[in-house]
Amino acid sequence: TKWVYSFGGGSAEGSRDMRNLLGGKGANLAEMANLGLPVPPGFTISTEACNWFYANGRQMPEGLREQVAEALAKLEKLQGKTLGGAPMPLLLSVRSGARSSMPGMMDTVLNLGLNDESVQALAESADPRFAYDSYRRFIQMYSDVVLGVEHHDFEAILEQEREARGYESDTQLSAEDWQVVIERFKALVIEVNEGPFPQDPQDQLWGAISAVFSSWMNNRAITYRKLHDIPESWGTAVNVQAMVFGNMGDTSATGVAFTRDPSTGEKALYGEFLVNAQGEDVVAGIRTPQYLTEKARVQAGSDAPSLETLMPESFKEFCAHADRLERHYRDMQDMEFTIERGTLWMLQTRNGKRTTHAALKIATGMAEEGLITEEEAVMRIEPTSLDQLLHPTLDPKAERNVIARGLPASPGAASGEIVFTPDKADLLTKEGHPVILVRMETSPEDIQGMVSSRGILTSRGGMTSHAAVVARGMGKPCVCGAGTLKIDHKAGTMMVLGKVYKEGDIITIDGSTGEVMEGAVAMLQPEVSGDFATLMKWADQARRLGVRANAETPEDARAARDFGAEGIGLCRTEHTFFQDDRIVAMREMIVAEDREARRAALAKLLPLQRHDFFELFKTMRGLPVTIRLLDPPLHEFLPKGEKEIEEVAAAIGTEPSRLRERIIELTEANPMLGSRGCRLLLLHPEITEMQTRAILEAARDAAHQTGEPVIPEIMVPLVGMLAELDKVKEVIDRTAEEVNASSEIKITYTVGTMIELPRAALRAREIAQSAQFFSFGTNDLTQTTYGISRDDAASFLGHYQEIGLIEKDPFITLDTEGVGALIALAVKEGRVTKPDLKLGICGEHGGDPASIRFCEEAGLDYVSCSPYRVPVARLAAAQAAL
Ligand code: ADP
Ligand code: MG
Ligand code: MG
Repeated sequence: TKWVYSFGGGSAEGSRDMRNLLGGKGANLAEMANLGLPVPPGFTISTEACNWFYANGRQMPEGLREQVAEALAKLEKLQGKTLGGAPMPLLLSVRSGARSSMPGMMDTVLNLGLNDESVQALAESADPRFAYDSYRRFIQMYSDVVLGVEHHDFEAILEQEREARGYESDTQLSAEDWQVVIERFKALVIEVNEGPFPQDPQDQLWGAISAVFSSWMNNRAITYRKLHDIPESWGTAVNVQAMVFGNMGDTSATGVAFTRDPSTGEKALYGEFLVNAQGEDVVAGIRTPQYLTEKARVQAGSDAPSLETLMPESFKEFCAHADRLERHYRDMQDMEFTIERGTLWMLQTRNGKRTTHAALKIATGMAEEGLITEEEAVMRIEPTSLDQLLHPTLDPKAERNVIARGLPASPGAASGEIVFTPDKADLLTKEGHPVILVRMETSPEDIQGMVSSRGILTSRGGMTSHAAVVARGMGKPCVCGAGTLKIDHKAGTMMVLGKVYKEGDIITIDGSTGEVMEGAVAMLQPEVSGDFATLMKWADQARRLGVRANAETPEDARAARDFGAEGIGLCRTEHTFFQDDRIVAMREMIVAEDREARRAALAKLLPLQRHDFFELFKTMRGLPVTIRLLDPPLHEFLPKGEKEIEEVAAAIGTEPSRLRERIIELTEANPMLGSRGCRLLLLHPEITEMQTRAILEAARDAAHQTGEPVIPEIMVPLVGMLAELDKVKEVIDRTAEEVNASSEIKITYTVGTMIELPRAALRAREIAQSAQFFSFGTNDLTQTTYGISRDDAASFLGHYQEIGLIEKDPFITLDTEGVGALIALAVKEGRVTKPDLKLGICGEHGGDPASIRFCEEAGLDYVSCSPYRVPVARLAAAQAAL
């Protein structure tokens, strides 16, 4: 097997198409080498080698040592240096790189090859201060990553030495100072580790390679994979590369840049760098980085010179490479570079992470520039990411008490209680409190707490700091580098403008402006406009599936319409009864002991329902509205506490004791499979009568008032047999006839059924004789197909996921194999009877992109989801069709 692929010197064995084998970083390093860009040469050990390593008890694959030796010899020849040798020793970086980028999740070792001898050679041929600085960095990183010596133990030594000399920053340490530090570092290693710091460069190299492989299974990586749905089976590649040095004095630098602004999407090079620095210094937020371009520097009001003025030649060259890479990859690039004594080197490029806002601007912008097609633009946006834009932003008219300003690192606004630790964030969120995580800076260990928080606020770090990058990836509002905040996480306080804020105090952050405010600030409802609207227009042109919304209230219906819903796919009539004192009338109806009492209760409900439907029809005029007849699982509506029982007893004029008996009569052992849906409608036809009347009269009034067609679709729930549907339909038709007979405006309506029982799917051919439409109620259909109670599933489905029995919760993503097979069957059979049978889905799955893809393939006519999911569904439907 070929495990090792070389790159550099103008060509490479790999290419961008080989990212599964070489990882993203390795494939792109190869691609840049092929393009002739200045990439330090090196080689990539494939992900297959990593997988072999894990499949064989963490051993290196056979033949790997020989292939690495060969590639290393080639590299030494190309560089004219030898690993660990004099006069100029070859130094290496050992970098991880999975198929999809996992920023900061895995470990990198720089300056490998230094030891007590080669550091002297480096000091003589280059510069002593640089040489010893590099060596101490190497000991620190290598010991942390490979030997497990804590990073902060080294930092503590460094701090002591700095303080002893009265220095403020590391750059003040001289070569001699660094030598002292190195001796103490080595002593620390001996103390903590079993042996001394390894001096043999070959040992160092293999230690680093196996540490990179091992880092694939560290906690940070595992958490990140879970969050981003990355399979463990991918493995990571290892990139071994010649070092170039950004820490060789004032003509050297290191930085990161994006071809477009990752926060706004604006078409302008955006980046940061540090002079005389190496590796992670920029990202770690140790020193405040400088801006790449003059424009950004001026905009930020920074005094530190930009790269554009400081190193104009390198800047120009970099701009040309950036432009070339963006055109080549046809996407926004995130690049890392280093300038060594005036010579520019490209260390990495990848498709840059971006906010959803930026993603929309970039996709529509690139389509308008002709770089990509409109269809490609549609494919570029992750549908669920739109969620971020469908949440409230700060009301510009609301009063705000700004207490600090930081960088607008990830847009969106959030209010919540201050918490200072990720664990506390997690805990309080579980208890239902919205929280803002406030930290000096974040690190990969904080991920879980960041996920839990509404927003993130840091007092240190730039736009490419960990907090900023991760928050943007998660779509969380983030303000970083708010330097006036004095955070004392031990005391649990944040001080600013002379005032002390404690844990639990409410603040608001605006990640679009960088403002931090005291208290909660009023928010505005989102809307679809600008680039978002443009992209949605292109999506609508591409999709075949219709998109409707599940809505009961006029507010929800209005939101649905604004978000582009083409109708209501499910109005759950019982939901409107949870409001106010309506619940009492509803309970009266449920507990009624005879037809007469029930009719009396229904008479109270009729005007309420008619009013609701009227508002709904008015809002949705011209569009279809599917109204489901009453489907109340009885247990949800029975009065529970003493107070409720007394209230209902008083309303119906009976003794609480009698009512209690009645409740016991009505209590079912298995309510989800009890007298629900059409079963209840068949027991009590007067419910169907009342509801049909309410629907038809409301439709009539709405049609009269708006002058536009009103299209009611009456849906019968929980049908398992044709006869059930027929019986209910008889009542509907008879009642409708009565209403129509008494009015000039005649309302046409359709009657259909939900398919939510396996029997209904199996007998679809028959049921379609009387149904004008089917709507797949996949919540219940999943419940009844699996025989899993929706309300009790949490206790074991989570466990199933943990032990790998199922990949996804079937109540969130449709089980295409089982539930999907029933749907496919019902579609086929139903259309045998009625080729034009209208087919939709109205379960939670209607807003889930993977399930929408299934609906497209199954040939459904529309999906229906919650109003705020409608744009997500429109985009997912387009992607499924393309
Ligand atoms: P990550 O995946 O976390 O970005 P990288 O492998 O890109 O990790 O390494 C982190 C940093 O180390 C880079 O941004 C770069 O500054 C530095 N680095 C990596 N390889 C080299 C090299 N060959 N020469 C100089 N610096 C390097
Ligand atoms: Mg990198
Ligand atoms: Mg149902």
